[in-house]
This record gives sequence, structure tokens and C-alpha cells, in this order.
Amino acid sequence: MNKRQFLKGLILFFPAGGLTGVLASPVRGKETSGADKGTEASGAKTTQPQSTGAYDPERHNYGMGIEIDKCIGCSRCVEACKAENNVPQEPFFFRTWIERYVITKDREVTVESINVKSRGTRELAQDDREILRSFFVPKLCNQCAHPPCVQVCPVGATFSTKDGVVLVDANRCIGCRYCVQACPYAARYLHPETKTADKCTFCYHRVVKGLLPACVEVCPTQARVFGDLKSKASRLVRLMRMNKIHVLKPSLNTDPKVYYAQLDGEVR
Ligand code: SF4
Ligand code: SF4
Repeated sequence: MNKRQFLKGLILFFPAGGLTGVLASPVRGKETSGADKGTEASGAKTTQPQSTGAYDPERHNYGMGIEIDKCIGCSRCVEACKAENNVPQEPFFFRTWIERYVITKDREVTVESINVKSRGTRELAQDDREILRSFFVPKLCNQCAHPPCVQVCPVGATFSTKDGVVLVDANRCIGCRYCVQACPYAARYLHPETKTADKCTFCYHRVVKGLLPACVEVCPTQARVFGDLKSKASRLVRLMRMNKIHVLKPSLNTDPKVYYAQLDGEVR
């Protein structure tokens, strides 16, 4: 029985809170230094990434902006993310996905993922009522500053880096799914091959090298804006200065770091 199997067996007998006290959990909350530890290039096998050269995670705090008016629902970001991060091609697994909202004149709101129609949303109504407005909403892990997924992980496999990204150490993850259930944004899934938790990392392996996340790089309308909240010159900070910004589910106090401009009040 290896370490992962042993820990998974323990999980069956202890609730998350109880086990947290039983198991030593050296990585909890803010990561000591994701940049100081070993890394794999990308995808579901993401471990604690390693920066190169003089990269100092303490000098950055990453976020993403999304301009709703610019998203055309082409899903190039979704495809680029899958290719970059070894996300399974089956239409059930996503690190990022696009939801289409349709609001009718009688205020009925229907939502569907244009990438998979069964992601907990209702089928888009195809009736005769007039549509008041419709728009696309890209979704992904919000890299919460107060992430419930980190709080519930009993073995410290999911953690926050000093530069504000929530990551999963696949070597430590025991596949208990606590984080999948705790995420209020449905941003996590269990990778069918590795049996470990997986989600958006802002393409951390690229970001620490000064590259953009794959989804941002391919977006043909620049609806996605990646940036450093600590840099006043970043595109993200400029976007936030020039627009009214909303985050998803603000009442949960997760402090999301995906910032939406032109977001309709109906979006949850
Ligand atoms: Fe964790 Fe979900 Fe927040 Fe991402 S969106 S940091 S997975 S709680
Ligand atoms: Fe932690 Fe989530 Fe892995 Fe469970 S499934 S060990 S909560 S990262």
C-alpha cells in the first residue's frame, strides 16, 4: 500500500475537519514558496511549480479580467486550455468553459454551457418568446484569495502560492474530492487518469516564465485580460480602473480574482 492509498483509506474513516487535526499538514493556506519546489510542465500532473531565474512570487499577485461584451463564444480558449494542460478531451472535463445566458422579455433566465449541456444548468429554452438579451460568460477557477478548497483539503495538497494562484500538488492529493465539493464555482474535477483534483492554474507554468495563460493568448477578441494586481501598468489594473467590475458570488467572501466587466446582474 503506497502513501496515497494509505491516506485515502484514512479519509474514509475521518470527516475532513477531524482528519485535518490527525494528519500533519505542512502546506496549508499560503504556500511557503511554490517557486522553491519541484515542478512538472503542465496539466493534471501539476505539482508545486518552480520559477526560473530571478522570478520572485512575492512581487506579484495575479488575476484575470473578462470583458463580457467582447466574448463571442468561439471556445478557442477552451480548446487551447485543454491542449495546454492535458485536460481530458471528453466533454465533461474543463478547466475553463463558456456559459451562454439568454434573458427573455418576461425575465426568464436560461443558461447553458456551450461546451457541455449538462454542467448543472438547464437546457436553453427554445420557445417563441422574444429574447431581451443574450451573452457569453467565460468561467474558470477564480483563484480565490480566501479559497474554501484550500480550507477543506485534509492533506494540504491544494494550496495558495505567494503570487495569488491556487494550485494542486498531484503528488500529495489523495483524490478524496473534498475540494471538488467545497468549490462554490464548480471549478474542479477529479482527473480520470491521475485520480487527483484538477482545475485552472492560470497556466502557472507559463506565467512564471513571463508568458500569458494559453486561453488569454488565443482569445481573438482579447476578452480575457491577464495581469498582475501589484503592477499599476498591467492591462488588468487598467481594465479594473476603467470599468465597473463584478465578481461571482461576492456574498460568499471567497474574494475571487477573476474580474468581470459588463457583467449582467443575472449572472451567478
Ligand atoms: Fe478553489 Fe473554487 Fe475558488 Fe478556485 S474557484 S480557488 S477551486 S474555491
Ligand atoms: Fe485535497 Fe482535493 Fe486532493 Fe482531497 S481531492 S486531497 S481535498 S486536493
